[in-house]
Amino acid sequence: MQDIKQNLNSILNKIRETEIKTGRKENSVKLMAVSKFHSCEEIETAIKSGQILFGENRVQEASEKFPSLFSNYPDINLHMIGVLQTNKVLNAVKIASCIQSVDSIKLLKEIEKQSAKLNKNMNILFELHTGEESKSGFTDLDELKKAFDLCEEGLFPHITPCGFMTMAPFTQDKSIIHSSFKTAYEISQKFKSEYKNFNLQELSMGMSGDFEIAIEEGSTLVRVGTAIFGERDYTKK
Ligand SMILES: *Cc1c(COP(=O)(O)O)cnc(C)c1O
Repeated sequence: MQDIKQNLNSILNKIRETEIKTGRKENSVKLMAVSKFHSCEEIETAIKSGQILFGENRVQEASEKFPSLFSNYPDINLHMIGVLQTNKVLNAVKIASCIQSVDSIKLLKEIEKQSAKLNKNMNILFELHTGEESKSGFTDLDELKKAFDLCEEGLFPHITPCGFMTMAPFTQDKSIIHSSFKTAYEISQKFKSEYKNFNLQELSMGMSGDFEIAIEEGSTLVRVGTAIFGERDYTKK
């Protein structure tokens, strides 16, 4: 557990160093701690070390862990970052301040419906498909454009688009990772200039193995699990 604090400090240092090295503004890159498959005790250790932003993949698991954490630590934030089925949206909206994995207009409609029910605003990121290995994310930019048009027409009053997220392919080949993040950055810039009514400042990319590359390519938020909490034990749940 002591390691969690040390790991957090070491990653924050690496983030700050990479910001300086690549000419990014200091403190412009946020750190999310991805706590899937890790216990409330481990999450609490991270909170006590100053970590505020957390990410979870599965709504069921997050709904078991986070309500009690929220009541003890009202300042923390949770984003959902995993593939989201429409029947899980209500519970996702209940606990998350942002859904990062919006990959279809159908999902957008469901998030609006459930957020309206709860009278809650949901921040969302559009997930971009930039590498062959991940299955999720918008592949068709015309479809993404359609999603933005619907947002602009006021169809989703309870949804605030805040930017984009992507996952690089699982590969050791750094040039492929660079090019995946570069693609996401370019798409984000294109939509930013086309849809000025939205504040699309967030570009969520980079994980334990590639967050420094992601920062070099313009990430504003890195999602780090293993390098903070250690290896996940997938047999536990
Ligand atoms: C699990 C996960 C992460 C964190 O991955 P690590 O390699 O453990 O840092 C980041 N983003 C998403 C979408 C994930 O599912």
